[in-house]
Amino acid sequence: MNDASTSYDVAVVGGGPAGLAVAIALAQTGATTALIARRAPYADNRTTALLGGSVDFLQALEVWPRCHDKAAPLQVMRLVDDTGRLIRAPEVRFSSDEIGLDVFGYNIENRLLMEALEARAAEFSELTRFDDEADAINPQDADVAILTGQGKPLSARLVIGADGRHSLCRQAAGIEVKRRDLKQSALTFNISHSRPHRNISTEFHTPQGPCVFVPLPGDRCSVVWVATSGEAERLIALSDDELSVAAEAQSHSILGRIAVEPGRHLFPLSIEQPRQFARHRVALVGEAAHVIPPIGAQGLNMGLRDAADIAAVVAEAIAAGEDPGAPQVLKRYDSARRADIASRTFAIDVANRSLLSDFLPMQSLRAAGLHLIGSVGPLRRIAMREGLAPSWRPTRRVGVDEI
Ligand SMILES: Cc1cc2nc3c(=O)[nH]c(=O)nc-3n(C[C@H](O)[C@H](O)[C@H](O)COP(=O)(O)OP(=O)(O)OC[C@H]3O[C@@H](n4cnc5c(N)ncnc54)[C@H](O)[C@@H]3O)c2cc1C
Repeated sequence: MNDASTSYDVAVVGGGPAGLAVAIALAQTGATTALIARRAPYADNRTTALLGGSVDFLQALEVWPRCHDKAAPLQVMRLVDDTGRLIRAPEVRFSSDEIGLDVFGYNIENRLLMEALEARAAEFSELTRFDDEADAINPQDADVAILTGQGKPLSARLVIGADGRHSLCRQAAGIEVKRRDLKQSALTFNISHSRPHRNISTEFHTPQGPCVFVPLPGDRCSVVWVATSGEAERLIALSDDELSVAAEAQSHSILGRIAVEPGRHLFPLSIEQPRQFARHRVALVGEAAHVIPPIGAQGLNMGLRDAADIAAVVAEAIAAGEDPGAPQVLKRYDSARRADIASRTFAIDVANRSLLSDFLPMQSLRAAGLHLIGSVGPLRRIAMREGLAPSWRPTRRVGVDEI
């Protein structure tokens, strides 16, 4: 990566997993791409359950071979009603072999995925890295002017906002965002345990939110524990021994003795929905385009679909001699993403609300829905396939492979 030129087809702002993936996908298509992103060690202990097409996409980007041996396969997903309420849902068990797959996907520590993405991004001469922040972004008629924090000016015909939930790119494009604070937080930490997880991810549904134990390689799991903000604050303040005991109790000892590993993080939860996904020469990907609670492992999987779609739309536009930032090109991207993002945000919101609800009819409806999914094979298989990716999603080609 070099920084000889200051005018690009595309500039990607933000170097989280969504930003790096989109920068690689674009560079792979031959588009001249600037990546404005600080090089910094990944700062939290989140892991990502990469589902379905996400692994194929990372394979096509030549990222997956660099990290797949550090990921744990996910073959079974269990949903356990742990609300203790009068009306409880039966346990639902999704098994990948029921839909003809060896695995649903793989769980990997974000820091390891990021290392693989960074290593791949460093290989492209088409990709110019600015180890900096974007300070000012000004969409104009023919291009977007960008000024970095260190005062470097550059321009691009299209800017991709991969700059997370407080997106400057989104603000620069004048895209409004609907935001709802959920008054819940997710506590994340990793554990080792005495019984094997057998590649089974188990999600306990509590009246405050889900607590999920997701396999990591060896006898280890990542834990995402969603609770009211006050309870999450209490949990994060526990000693290692106390949190180990609390996690073991919450897991009903299915993993045997639990020992928490160093490192905990707290994520206040919200739902954020921008009114558009692209406007004024700016297209949004990742959390700049959607923030949802960590239920069903959908966030980054959607972010990777954003990355694949914008890279394909840009490649098609450039091949056809179009301006990649032109309104009709942005409209294609917006249409490609709208149904996927809107339907998943809605489904996750309903799943979360129905879990928290004290309203008896809502609890009955939830229990009945889970009972149907658990006992009716075709319904269960539809739920599994939809959980991996939208069935109606058109196949897109990114560089060399399908996702
Ligand atoms: C507890 C928890 C568990 C989760 N588990 C899963 C899961 O299992 N599966 C899944 O698919 N998803 C999961 N998610 C969601 C997933 O973590 C997010 O979707 C993903 O990390 C978002 O990545 P991103 O690249 O869009 O944003 P970020 O990781 O926030 O990256 C944005 C980057 O942009 C940079 N930036 C900001 N402003 C500027 C600027 N002006 N100039 C340059 N750079 C800038 C920031 O420094 C940052 O590096 C989970 C989320 C949480 C909270």
